[in-house]
Amino acid sequence: NARLANYDTLLADAIAEETVRQEAHIELIASENYTSKLVMEAQGTQLTNKYAEGYPGRRYYGGCEFVDKVEALAIERACNLFSANYANVQPHSGAQANAAVFMALVKPGDTILGMSLAHGGHLTHGAAPNFSGKHYNAVQYGLKPETGEIDYEEVERLAREHQPKMIIAGFSAYSRVVDWRRFRTIADEVGAYLMVDMAHVAGLVAAGLYPSPLPFAHVVTTTTHKTLRGPRGGLILSADGDETLYKKLNGAVFPGQQGGPLMHVIAAKAVAFKEAMNQEFVRYQQQVIDNARAMANVFVERGYDVVSGGTDDHLFLVSLIRQGITGKDADAALGRAHITVNKNTVPNDPQSPFVTSGLRIGTPAVTTRGFDAPECSDLAGWICDILDELAAGKDTAAIEADVQAKVTDVCARHPVYAEPVAE
Ligand code: PLP
Repeated sequence: NARLANYDTLLADAIAEETVRQEAHIELIASENYTSKLVMEAQGTQLTNKYAEGYPGRRYYGGCEFVDKVEALAIERACNLFSANYANVQPHSGAQANAAVFMALVKPGDTILGMSLAHGGHLTHGAAPNFSGKHYNAVQYGLKPETGEIDYEEVERLAREHQPKMIIAGFSAYSRVVDWRRFRTIADEVGAYLMVDMAHVAGLVAAGLYPSPLPFAHVVTTTTHKTLRGPRGGLILSADGDETLYKKLNGAVFPGQQGGPLMHVIAAKAVAFKEAMNQEFVRYQQQVIDNARAMANVFVERGYDVVSGGTDDHLFLVSLIRQGITGKDADAALGRAHITVNKNTVPNDPQSPFVTSGLRIGTPAVTTRGFDAPECSDLAGWICDILDELAAGKDTAAIEADVQAKVTDVCARHPVYAEPVAE
């Protein structure tokens, strides 16, 4: 943006550097994606100027007749996309959406049951340093070490023992299909609410390629920026049909947790929901899954342990325990080759969460820029080439340089944005 560059060189330079990084590096962080130019266009509009506390038709400020249209469109599209009959498009983020659901459904001190961070849950599902772990009595379930899959018997046992008021299903790092129905059965047995946080798989759910939690959960939350490929933000949905519940949820978002909604972001969410209704979006999500499978297969063939043995979604976890490599070292070596992943704890991890023995690898971003399955297999092979040398205790500088050259080449063949965003 020439005008910004002239006005504020320091800032414009930093933005330009980040733009170049996004083009020249391979992005395998499972929670990231590249949103469309249309989404960015909607987000960069005058809507950012408007205060609109309240909801369409019931605002605390004047001049809301046009932003009302924007929010109503976003709500209608979210409901259509996910077969919901309630949507709140105002949460500023996924964490805010989750905080609002807690506020609506449970009281401080109540018991909640969620997936532990170390096993693939999110901070907001009851982790100790988060509000959800500080203000509630958080009980945590995890994976079966032998299978790497959710231990439903443990969920059932903990629910019976602790009688939670709310059970949270959903994850930040899990590669298998979650049995939402089973979670609802357990919740019903103990009289708990079931909240599903589908942030990671929302795009796959929208495309009909991952089972929807909507028919089973009282409330579903999500982010809009991961597989769903919209702007950064949160969303609350329900198909429960309980108007009292919907009122409580709306009240918990505003005035409970937030002030004025980000109307420019809500406009961008509306664009993303429209894009997600397209057949092209379904093809994209199928390719995300195909690419994740192709990569996971290469890791298995090359002798690496993939948690649960493979993947049904957009991500998988590689355990490096047997190779004796830490996630931290692997993450750093791959970063030097311009491949961005994140270190992640794996079942039975002997290392601390800051070091870890695993990597989380996701394909939403590379698929958006046009990588196909053979290219993803090659990419997984390059990663293994670096990990092999790390495991052998060799100096990895040469292999990192070799892989970096291949990364540069494939990135140039698949620009993220056809015309560069920053000139
Ligand atoms: N829920 C899940 C399952 C997530 O993985 C994340 C983010 O990674 C969030 C919620 C939080 O979203 P945000 O970063 O928008 O607060």
